[in-house]
Amino acid sequence: MSSDGIAGAIVAGGGLAGWLAALVLLRAGHRVILVEAEPRTNSGDGRSLALSYASVRVLETLGLWPNLAVKAAPIRQVHISQAGHFGTLNFSAAEMGASALGWVVPAEAVLEAFERAAAAAGADLICPAKVLEAPIDERGGLRRVEIESAESRKNLPTRLLLIADGADSALRQSVGIAHRRHDYHAQALVTTVAATRPQPGIAYERFTTAGVLALLPRPGDKKGLVWTLASGLARDWADEPLERILHRAERAIGGRLGRMSPAAPLRRFPLVGIFAQSQTARRAVVIGNAAHSLHPVAAQGLNLTIRDIATLAECLTAEPDPGADAVLKRYSHSRRGDQRRTMAYTGLVRRLGELRSPPAAAMRAAGLTLADLSRPCARKLARQGMGLVPRPLPAMVRGVPL
Ligand SMILES: Cc1cc2nc3c(=O)[nH]c(=O)nc-3n(C[C@H](O)[C@H](O)[C@H](O)COP(=O)(O)OP(=O)(O)OC[C@H]3O[C@@H](n4cnc5c(N)ncnc54)[C@H](O)[C@@H]3O)c2cc1C
Repeated sequence: MSSDGIAGAIVAGGGLAGWLAALVLLRAGHRVILVEAEPRTNSGDGRSLALSYASVRVLETLGLWPNLAVKAAPIRQVHISQAGHFGTLNFSAAEMGASALGWVVPAEAVLEAFERAAAAAGADLICPAKVLEAPIDERGGLRRVEIESAESRKNLPTRLLLIADGADSALRQSVGIAHRRHDYHAQALVTTVAATRPQPGIAYERFTTAGVLALLPRPGDKKGLVWTLASGLARDWADEPLERILHRAERAIGGRLGRMSPAAPLRRFPLVGIFAQSQTARRAVVIGNAAHSLHPVAAQGLNLTIRDIATLAECLTAEPDPGADAVLKRYSHSRRGDQRRTMAYTGLVRRLGELRSPPAAAMRAAGLTLADLSRPCARKLARQGMGLVPRPLPAMVRGVPL
């Protein structure tokens, strides 16, 4: 809280987006209060997050990477193929002149790194507590943030509200930001496996008749498994012994990884697409899943959010009023191109994954082969996956600190 009793920024939601936003706002010189509804647990959600090359550059610039690197596995090659068909599309870090295309890190380690760094930078945490609403107080022109906990109800004025309360955000609507919602009628089955032939450094994406199977590198003999399936099928499979799913995965990937055994419990994530129609409202910015919740098939959701937050930090640095109209306009204008391209790319991969009929699958296989033969096309796709498409790149991706 500043000397005038006004919070520079209040972040609603302490997920990956909220904590990273809190950290960069603090580093940009603003006081921050973060409000999180759920008490913190250390159990994590079992996901292996693929962080793009650009995201890791941002985390390096923020000084977060050394602690995460010890838990990370590099992606040196991406191998995309289709069960039962010839034709593969390959990207390699060597061809892109990089040490890795990206890295895979447990989601809970990333959250903990963001949280610790933000706390060390002086974030004030109110938890467990809920932001109920945050109307504009026309007398002072600020947002008044209603926060409710078991013990009390507070009303704090702020110059900027960061709405990071997830895909089902109630605050997004309450500040007047409309959104489009798309139910994919699909769920992701997620676990970690140990493989007898783990093929370190290779991320596999396999189109199967059931859905898209991803096997991501993890340290040692482990792989992070994500299989997106129609909701009914996902529910049926989740009721079966995990070994049976892994046996299907072994066959679906053509035996490349040898035998797989469980290294973590199975989790299920229902998938919805959320697309906010605007990124800002008066003295408010919507970020993370509340702004765009993308299908995980292309592993772009958090990576896009990291680039959003890196740009937001640039727009806010040295600004006395982080919620000023001009600042928020600059932010939303700078992010439009990257957000649209990333959503289009994710939509394309998702639709490719949904092709089921034999002729459509044959066309997909031919498309993979053509893209692989045309190396400029393959490199363009690899650059998108690496998060290197936006121009100009956010300063933190280029290693420029705040
Ligand atoms: C299966 C799966 C795999 C994925 N893999 C990848 C990947 O490999 N790479 C990638 O880049 N992305 C990936 N993603 C996307 C990534 O997980 C999301 O981008 C990220 O989790 C977004 O986090 P968030 O903070 O926006 O939302 P959330 O994690 O939903 O956090 C919202 C928080 O707000 C709190 N909250 C809600 N309401 C209130 C309130 N009123 N007041 C206060 N707090 C509130 C909630 O308790 C919660 O903690 C994947 C997603 C899925 C589902």
